[in-house]
Amino acid sequence: MKRLLKMALLITETCINCDMCDLECPNEAISFGLEIYEINPSKCTECVGHYDKPTCQSVCPISNCIIKDPLRVETEEQLMEKFVTIQGLV
Ligand code: SF4
Ligand code: SF4
Repeated sequence: MKRLLKMALLITETCINCDMCDLECPNEAISFGLEIYEINPSKCTECVGHYDKPTCQSVCPISNCIIKDPLRVETEEQLMEKFVTIQGLV
């Protein structure tokens, strides 16, 4: 079976700073950067461990504003390990 690639997400310059996503991120991975909101890839699990799909993408009103970061390819297992570390479960 073909496996889907997982990776941390990235906010693009189409962001309108509406402030919808940062409050919804379960890992507190989103914060305001120099000009637009940014995702800290070390905290983004693509919502693995919390939700079935990235909640920031679900709440963002701008189509394709939050995308997968091609430089941050991670496996489901790596994202789950990151979730466990963030939650302090180890
Ligand atoms: S995908 Fe989930 S963990 Fe990653 S930034 Fe979006 S809301 Fe946060
Ligand atoms: S929800 Fe989308 S448009 Fe709004 S701040 Fe987050 S990334 Fe930017």
